[in-house]
Amino acid sequence: MAELMQNYIEDAESALLHTYNRYQVVLDRGDGVYLYDMEGKKYLDFVSGIAVFALGYNNQEYNDALKEQIDKLLHTSNYYYNVPAVEAAKKLKEVSGMDRVFFTNSGAEAVEGAIKAARKYAYLKDGKTDHEIIAMNHSFHGRTMGALSVTGNPKYREAFEPGIGNIRFADMNDFDSVLSCVNEKTCAIILETVQGEGGIYPAEQEFLQKIRELCDEKDILLILDEIQCGMGRTGYMYAWQKYGIKPDIMTTAKALGCGVPVGAFLMTEKVGQNSLKAGDHGTTYGGNPFVCAAVCKVLDLFEKNNIIENVRQISAYLEEKLDCLVAKYDFIQTRRGSGLMQGLVFDGPVAPVINAALDKGLILINAGADIIRFVPPLVIGKADVDEMISILESCLAQYQKG
Ligand SMILES: *Cc1c(COP(=O)(O)O)cnc(C)c1O
Repeated sequence: MAELMQNYIEDAESALLHTYNRYQVVLDRGDGVYLYDMEGKKYLDFVSGIAVFALGYNNQEYNDALKEQIDKLLHTSNYYYNVPAVEAAKKLKEVSGMDRVFFTNSGAEAVEGAIKAARKYAYLKDGKTDHEIIAMNHSFHGRTMGALSVTGNPKYREAFEPGIGNIRFADMNDFDSVLSCVNEKTCAIILETVQGEGGIYPAEQEFLQKIRELCDEKDILLILDEIQCGMGRTGYMYAWQKYGIKPDIMTTAKALGCGVPVGAFLMTEKVGQNSLKAGDHGTTYGGNPFVCAAVCKVLDLFEKNNIIENVRQISAYLEEKLDCLVAKYDFIQTRRGSGLMQGLVFDGPVAPVINAALDKGLILINAGADIIRFVPPLVIGKADVDEMISILESCLAQYQKG
């Protein structure tokens, strides 16, 4: 590796807290579905900053909208109204079918807000403070204490216990295991409509439907975490829209701002009227004019550029190509996923494949040690899939030889 890039990597390792084992590359700029490192090497990107850059890099209309807002007003306190936040909330309500929006700075904060709303809803009903939440094994909801407490991966949680408490874990797609966690204290069930980090497991239709019925019957709130699987990624604006059910609370982030830090939790009018009130929750930066100008432009471009239609078409092609790999290589067990959120499950660790791909100019990421996750920009075309498959196959041949 050239010296300049190596120097930056060394500087990074001496200045930044070592919470990531980073890939040995310094990324410098992006254009469309390609990223470039400091030395100008080009990479086809099938990660999009982990399901963030839905529109691809360096979208001129998006960039112009942000520049315009920078020259106008970056920030006001939430004690005042601002135009982009109102517009963004209206658009978000429209595409989600939810009624009330609270903007946050991140996904984890959206989950925190969702948990607070659910606890407050239950508190207003019975005045008690011992309510429980059911979460799923293999889930991922973020790194802050509340979000971590509902994250179903003991490895992430252990050193930081105790969490917020009163959490029970059930198995995704096993309704009986959820049922066995329910009692009179249960106030909410939280799950990702398609589990991301934990290994790309989509919720099954019957499972989600039964959970919805259970929640209706017992006045338990259903919280769907759409931070990774939302924003068009599965071929629906929000993944739950495919299931014919609706959550009481949902979270969104990642692609919502396509590169600026913004998330949101949304709720139905019923939850909105019976949970968080003035003084109960707040944020300094959340929903400021800058990030909300980005949200507005992202939602506009989704519509104008038929992003969801593209996801539906191209994901069928991607699935077909990935299925060919499953058929061809016996160390690849299966493919699972939804839309442009796909996982290839290997017999063993995928790190060597991902590193080899990086070397050959393809950016991929794992989801757990044995799964390659595909979360490309939503604007990819067939040629991009073909290019990805061709580089990936050249790495698999090596993998096979060991
Ligand atoms: C990424 C992610 C989060 C956390 O979002 P941050 O913006 O990193 O805090 C929460 N839930 C899911 C499903 C995610 O994929």
